[in-house]
Amino acid sequence: MITRDSGVRNRTEECSTCRRRTRHQVSIEVRAESEGENAAFSREPYRVTDCLLCGTTTSTRMNTV
Ligand SMILES: [Zn+2]
Repeated sequence: MITRDSGVRNRTEECSTCRRRTRHQVSIEVRAESEGENAAFSREPYRVTDCLLCGTTTSTRMNTV
């Protein structure tokens, strides 16, 4: 299950594919990781950035807040 945060915004960030700073669409996704035993830790928030130039999607796990 993927839940997209409604607070989508654009940022300028480094793109590893373009090898320069480009505009990215940034959003937060909560993904169901594992199922079963560790149900309490199954929903992990990810910070997802989509490069608006080349379309590369990068997701970074948000460990500590
Ligand atoms: Zn790019």
